[in-house]
Amino acid sequence: MTTIFSKIIAKEIPADIVYQDDWVTAFRDIHPQAPTHILIVPNKEIATVNDVFPEDEAILGRMFVVAKQIATEQGIAESGYRLIVNCGADGGQEVYHLHMHLVGGRKLGRMLPN
Ligand code: AMP
Repeated sequence: MTTIFSKIIAKEIPADIVYQDDWVTAFRDIHPQAPTHILIVPNKEIATVNDVFPEDEAILGRMFVVAKQIATEQGIAESGYRLIVNCGADGGQEVYHLHMHLVGGRKLGRMLPN
């Protein structure tokens, strides 16, 4: 299923892209929840974590390497940050193109509400 993220990756619609290579694209979330809120997205159309297969392991690994690189560039590697991947309806996933939220720049508090 093609989503708005594929259009961002293809640069068919504007986004604040902070990183792109052959495997992943990272851009600022349009509704940031913290001073730093960046989405790291595989260029390949993978809908959810449920649609990940062993052949995607290199892409998934690249997402973490890029997350660390961006966190360092954004100056939040030392203070800390959170990586979030929502899956499906109960997970709160809105866009069905796998993505990792990189959130930081302030104290984030508890991971989940009580
Ligand atoms: P999720 O709930 O995990 O699916 O998160 C989807 C995220 O995508 C939300 O935080 C949205 O604010 C963000 N988002 C949706 N459309 C855009 C867009 N065009 N550019 C940047 N971020 C977007």
